[in-house]
Amino acid sequence: MAITVKPGRPSHCVWELTLKCNMRCKHCGSYAGKDRVGEMTLEQLLDVADQLADIGVKRITLSGGEPLLRENWDQIAQRLIERGVRVGMISNGYFMTDNIDKLVRLKALKAPGCLEVVAMSVDGLRETHDDFRRVPGSWDRIKAGYKALHEAGIYTAAITSVSNNNIKELDEMLKMFMSWKVNAWQLQTLFGGGRMREFPELMPGPAGVETVARFIAQTRLNRYPILVFPADCLGFCTELDPFILEGPWQGCQAGITALGIEANGNVKGCLSLCPELQENNPFVEGNLHEEKLIDIWNKPGAFAYNREFEPSKAEGFCATCRHLERCRCGCSAQAYFATGTVNNNPYCMLAERDRKAKELRAQAEELRCKAASLEKQARQVLHPERPYPQRIVRNRVTPGRRASVASILNSRFFNGKRS
Ligand code: SF4
Ligand code: SF4
Repeated sequence: MAITVKPGRPSHCVWELTLKCNMRCKHCGSYAGKDRVGEMTLEQLLDVADQLADIGVKRITLSGGEPLLRENWDQIAQRLIERGVRVGMISNGYFMTDNIDKLVRLKALKAPGCLEVVAMSVDGLRETHDDFRRVPGSWDRIKAGYKALHEAGIYTAAITSVSNNNIKELDEMLKMFMSWKVNAWQLQTLFGGGRMREFPELMPGPAGVETVARFIAQTRLNRYPILVFPADCLGFCTELDPFILEGPWQGCQAGITALGIEANGNVKGCLSLCPELQENNPFVEGNLHEEKLIDIWNKPGAFAYNREFEPSKAEGFCATCRHLERCRCGCSAQAYFATGTVNNNPYCMLAERDRKAKELRAQAEELRCKAASLEKQARQVLHPERPYPQRIVRNRVTPGRRASVASILNSRFFNGKRS
């Protein structure tokens, strides 16, 4: 039977202002670069901003592509702030110092909402980051961006996609962010979607998830002056949750409290749901060129993968998991990237631990068989096989029998001669 999760009003939205981007990052899930076909005009975007405020969204993260490349991005942010929304931004940081005046103006607005946080994507130390982003000098521009933001008193965050290239740099990055006075650091493990498919060797795989979770737990226990936290891609119902999450994991919130809007007006539960598909994306519930946001949100059957979750459809380790009803297979986007369905998430730490335990048990069984065979060989070395088993020889050669055998030997075969 389906578990019905009743949506209220969405409280958080990630809004892609444009798919245009000056970078061609190796891990970009949405192949950002050029604008999407049908990106909305400023007038339409301001109308969407009003609709978002009307529907009750409290927090909006402006993203892209590169949101700072969207003309008049600050007018959209201002409209949201004036309508009482807390606005954040995720940028690649390349144009941050060029836009600092606009950010300072937004921060100074006297309005019911506010500019809450400016985050930049940082994927390693200088060399690693620039290689990943494929734009020399981008790390230096980010560093300058944090300095300008800090001086302007704007709350800052860093977002790192953990790959095989930077997983060994996490300790150094932590020190780097603290020296830059970054306020918060979000860590996420790479998904295998979008441009990342061209670089499978960079994927840390499910085992990397546990490494990242333990790193976050440790930094929190050490009480560093930076808030380190995970994205939604980890922290599903393990003993580490109290050390890495603000509260218990309640399952993917796409279409329940979360919302994603693409630059062409497509509405999804979350922008991370298969962002590379420009057409026929199964997670698009409607388009703002054609419908009002409230109608899309309230459309019967919309966001069914979360609102009408079917436990019987769960696959893999999730199908047997005791947390299934609460967790609903973890992050839907991560599960979909990995398995082509939202109902099976091999990136879950519990699933990975189960897989690893099975692998070790199989190895243990193999070693047991090998050990038994070696033990047998050892016994044979110590007690080589004899023509007659010891027990039978001992039993049969009684003193009486020995005397009779001796008499036979003496008389018949050797004719009384003994050598
Ligand atoms: S196995 Fe699946 S249902 Fe269970 S905690 Fe992990 S992701 Fe959630
Ligand atoms: S798909 Fe993943 S990132 Fe998006 S809301 Fe669900 S859990 Fe969060």
